[in-house]
Amino acid sequence: MRQMATVLSNRPVAKGAMEMKVSVGAGEIAPGTFFHVKTSQLLRRPLSVANVDGNVVTFLYKVIGAGTTDLAARKAGDKLDVLGPLGNGFPLDQTGKRVVLVGGGIGIPPLYYTRRMLAARGIETVAILGFDTKESIFYEDAFRELGETIVTTVDGSYGEQGFVTGPLERIQADVLFSCGPEPMLKAVAASHIPERYISIENRMGCGIGACFACVCQAPGGYVKVCSDGPVFQAEEVTL
Ligand SMILES: Cc1cc2nc3c(=O)[nH]c(=O)nc-3n(C[C@H](O)[C@H](O)[C@H](O)COP(=O)(O)OP(=O)(O)OC[C@H]3O[C@@H](n4cnc5c(N)ncnc54)[C@H](O)[C@@H]3O)c2cc1C
Repeated sequence: MRQMATVLSNRPVAKGAMEMKVSVGAGEIAPGTFFHVKTSQLLRRPLSVANVDGNVVTFLYKVIGAGTTDLAARKAGDKLDVLGPLGNGFPLDQTGKRVVLVGGGIGIPPLYYTRRMLAARGIETVAILGFDTKESIFYEDAFRELGETIVTTVDGSYGEQGFVTGPLERIQADVLFSCGPEPMLKAVAASHIPERYISIENRMGCGIGACFACVCQAPGGYVKVCSDGPVFQAEEVTL
C-alpha cells in the first residue's frame, strides 16, 4: 500500500546511523518486512521495519549515499512517501524452541522487532549483534531488555573481538534468524543450528516483484528477494 507517512522524529543513534519514527496508516506489520521509501532519488530505497508501536513505525538506517543522506535531512512534520509493508518476514511460530538472532551492522534493525514479537509469544531468544567498532553500536540496551545479548566488534573496541560467528559456535538453539552482509549470511547459513532463516538485503528496483533487479540464485533457478523474501530458509537460496 502506498501512503504518505508523517515523520515524527529523526535522530542519530550511532556513528553514521539514524533512527526515524514515522506514523503510518493502520494495518498488520509482520517482523522482517520492509517499506520502500521515496527519497530524492529516482528509485525508492528499501528499509526494514525495526519496530512498530501502534501506528508508529521505526526505521534504523545507515547513511551511505544520496538516498539515505536525503532521509537524514528530514524533520518532524515532513511527509514521507512509503510503499509497504512489503515482502515476507520471519516465521514467528516457534513455540517451544530457542531462537538465536544474528545481526550484522545495518542488518540488525529487523531483528529488534522480530525479537519483541517472539518475546510476546513467550519464545526464548538469544541475540548476537556484530558491529565494526564501538562508535557504530546502536540499540544494545533495547536488545538487552529482551534477553541475553552478545555484542561483537571487529576491532575489539567493545564486547567480544571478532565476527558474530565466534559466539555463534557455542550457542545451543533450534532456530536461527539472521540479517546482515552477505559473507556473514553465508557463514551463518552453514552453521550448526538445525533450522536457519536469513534475510537478504540485495539492491532493489520496484520492490514488488516486477523488475527482477533483486534476483538471487536458488537451487531451482532464482528467487526475487523483494516478493519471495526478503526472508528465506537457508536452503532456498544460493549465496
Ligand atoms: C529488504 C531490504 C531492507 C533493508 N533494510 C535496511 C535498513 O533497515 N537499514 C539500512 O540502513 N539499510 C537497509 N537496507 C539497505 C538500504 O536500502 C540501502 O542502504 C539504501 O538503499 C542505500 O541508498 P542510498 O541512496 O543512500 O545509497 P546508494 O547511493 O544507492 O548506494 C551507496 C553505496 O552503497 C551500496 N549499496 C546500496 N544499497 C546496497 C545494498 N542493498 N547492498 C549492498 N550495497 C548497497 C551502493 O552500491 C553504493 O556503493 C535494506 C535493503 C533491503 C533490500
